[in-house]
Amino acid sequence: MQNLLKRVRIIGDPVLKNKSNSLNFPADVPFIMNLVEDMRKTLDMAEGLGLAAPQVGESVRLFIATPDHLEELNGHVVFINPEIRPYGEMEKREEGCLSVPGIYEILSRPSRVELRAKDIHGNSFTLDVGGLAARLILHECDHLDGILFVEKLSPIKRKLLKGRLKKIKERGTV
Ligand SMILES: [Zn+2]
Repeated sequence: MQNLLKRVRIIGDPVLKNKSNSLNFPADVPFIMNLVEDMRKTLDMAEGLGLAAPQVGESVRLFIATPDHLEELNGHVVFINPEIRPYGEMEKREEGCLSVPGIYEILSRPSRVELRAKDIHGNSFTLDVGGLAARLILHECDHLDGILFVEKLSPIKRKLLKGRLKKIKERGTV
């Protein structure tokens, strides 16, 4: 269990700051299949809701979700080359991240999002979701642009977290 958990990259790891590259079909399919299998195991072990490829060290535009209690995802688990249009009222919601272990903070984001992405076979699909599903998609898409949720907190909150984040960075693992 520890081996898998260790593979989740933690804040301070430069790979989390990269802007990720799009994946190509069908050329990248074997890579995608392997990556998704790895990520699903990691997400199961870590008991998170979602995981983006940069969090396991791959700078590619792919994230996965656990749709069990996110009906709005229509059973979709793998999101490749996602394009999003956030909209709606701003909504406050608590967020956490496997790459920032132990930190949970209220963050404001748009309440809804339209998404177009490809599945593991390269087929396009669209979703229009709110609630936790929207929050998950916005959080994971930020990872693909090298942004962690703690970087979006107010300057005061960031200042208050500075010491704890520093400790997490120094430890460098879960
Ligand atoms: Zn995250």
